[in-house]
Amino acid sequence: MNAPVLVINCGSSSIKYALVPDTPDQPRLAGLAERLGSSDARLKGTDSQGETYTQALSGADHTAALEAILTRLEGRRPGAVGHRIVHGGERFTRAARIDDDVVAAIEATAALAPLHNPANLQGIAATRQVFAALPQVAVFDTAFHQTLPPRAYRYALPEALYRDHGIRRYGFHGTSHAYVSARADALSGLDSGGWLTAHLGNGCSTAAVWEGQSRDTSMGLTPLEGLVMGTRSGDVDPGLHAHLARQLGWSLARIDEVLNRGSGLLGLSGLTNDMRELESAAKAGHAGAELAIEVFCYRIAKSLAALSCALPRLDGIVFTGGIGENSPQVRQRVVEALPHFGCRLDAAANRSTTLGREGRIDAGGPQLWVIPTDEEGRIAAETRQLLQEGHA
Ligand code: ADP
Repeated sequence: MNAPVLVINCGSSSIKYALVPDTPDQPRLAGLAERLGSSDARLKGTDSQGETYTQALSGADHTAALEAILTRLEGRRPGAVGHRIVHGGERFTRAARIDDDVVAAIEATAALAPLHNPANLQGIAATRQVFAALPQVAVFDTAFHQTLPPRAYRYALPEALYRDHGIRRYGFHGTSHAYVSARADALSGLDSGGWLTAHLGNGCSTAAVWEGQSRDTSMGLTPLEGLVMGTRSGDVDPGLHAHLARQLGWSLARIDEVLNRGSGLLGLSGLTNDMRELESAAKAGHAGAELAIEVFCYRIAKSLAALSCALPRLDGIVFTGGIGENSPQVRQRVVEALPHFGCRLDAAANRSTTLGREGRIDAGGPQLWVIPTDEEGRIAAETRQLLQEGHA
């Protein structure tokens, strides 16, 4: 299939789109419809000349937004639609062609991702309406981690909670970890390496990838487990919920809200969840900002050290996501916290590898790579591959 793939990432009030051509020399069209359902709904994006546009879509719902997106594709006709779906449970170990049965399975998994899967389904329903003739493919954030062995995915909880309720570790950001580890294989010249990947954006997670397969990852049943994130706490004592309920009388809803939206870099610093702002505040002497960066980096290093147990051999570490791609300071602090790995940073290469550049930043020891993630490219590639297999 030579036609471009339209990649859709649908939230409850937003649709992110990218029209991904099958060759990298053609420009990608991309944009975001946001505040859907409200009077100030709008569509923002970039055209093929690289010019940005903003279009008011007052009161638009998902279907109306998709119709507006269609008019922004500059006459280019997608050959398929690839949907980013957050949770595929244990059923989906790879991408799947969307039909009624797949929709029902995504619905059945909604209890595990109550904020995301229903919104993703809204996107599928609207897309099936607007692009009725096109094949649609679901690409799951959890699928790449379905190769985790039981020792990595089971919690030490009563077996019935796993068997009857699916309570286990699933992991997320799978598309990103899959993309950057495959890219590290290609760039390093190692046929199939042992990589620790660190996706550091607003959400953050690490993964251990061996011979192209995820062997362990830092996120669990939900995307709250693991690293310190923009506004999410990451790991806390599992006794915290009971403590807050008993001692402070907090409701479950309040605890959930604080751990998901009021913690992480924002909670620690008391300032912001934005790493750029934290770096300048710390430089200006803000103690909370400095502490937030310190805890953030230490916890990444600690997670990477723990995940190294999942690899028979460590070939290197890959940094990606907005922070991983753009913050030499964070990379340096993480690497400095791992002297026992034998990591040696090339300071000049570290400083100059930012702004979407791919590059190697070590001076010996395990390889250290900065690889800008490309989740949309990977979703398009998986969509293409699945449809080609279907026609083989
Ligand atoms: P999302 O997970 O929402 O896709 P991104 O991957 O875009 O988020 O990452 C957002 C994070 O990247 C923010 O904390 C932002 O401050 C950080 N970031 C972006 N550019 C820089 C930079 N030059 N230096 C430090 N942090 C940066």
